[in-house]
Amino acid sequence: MGDEKNGKLMIISGPSGVGKSTICKRLVDEYENVSLSVSLTTRPKSESEVNGQDYYFVTREEFEKKINAGELLEYAEVFGNFYGTPKDKVEQDLSQGKTVILEIDVQGARKVKTRHPEVLMVFILPPTQKELAARMNDRGRDDEQTSRIRLSQADDEIASAWRYYNNMVINEDLDLAVGEVANIAGLSKKEN
Ligand code: ADP
Ligand code: 5GP
Repeated sequence: MGDEKNGKLMIISGPSGVGKSTICKRLVDEYENVSLSVSLTTRPKSESEVNGQDYYFVTREEFEKKINAGELLEYAEVFGNFYGTPKDKVEQDLSQGKTVILEIDVQGARKVKTRHPEVLMVFILPPTQKELAARMNDRGRDDEQTSRIRLSQADDEIASAWRYYNNMVINEDLDLAVGEVANIAGLSKKEN
């Protein structure tokens, strides 16, 4: 790896419900030459999600095969399920000069950083703890117990983020947050 990379690699992390997917979608829709990596996961698909678009939903066996075949750039266990980034697509998009976004957790981000030291690392923060809980509820994806587990992890994730991320963006006003992340990656707006 190395010379074939022209595009920029950017990691976006943050606690569950903070607005990562919303921000990433806006970047893909509104800015030039952005590719959002679609991860594999062993977590069950929720009703609102689309296989191949939000994630590739796979069995534990299929996931293990990908690990053994060396097809993942990184993977991690998050909230009791496995999540991983398919390597080929990332490398292909980078070689085509695209800005590739990985929406992954802190453990995965640290692994990517060892392979790609130049990676841009962005951590999204909520304006308040209360607002984070409200957004997770609004999203309506998780049951009460899952939401509680995810919320209780947020403090630890935020604490470790201070150590590893050099870009922290508060997602209070969505437009401003999208603009800040776009600025960090040096993205240009699409013309209407
Ligand atoms: P994540 O991908 O980090 O888990 P989502 O992108 O699914 O989070 O967002 C969680 C919820 O918060 C969604 O209902 C989304 O519309 C809402 N949301 C995202 N950003 C903001 C914002 N700046 N202000 C208010 N609500 C927001
Ligand atoms: P969710 O289940 O809410 O979609 O995602 C849970 C967590 O897994 C989030 O922190 C998300 O960033 C992380 N995640 C999603 N895909 C990947 C991946 O491919 N690798 C890693 N390490 N984490 C991921």
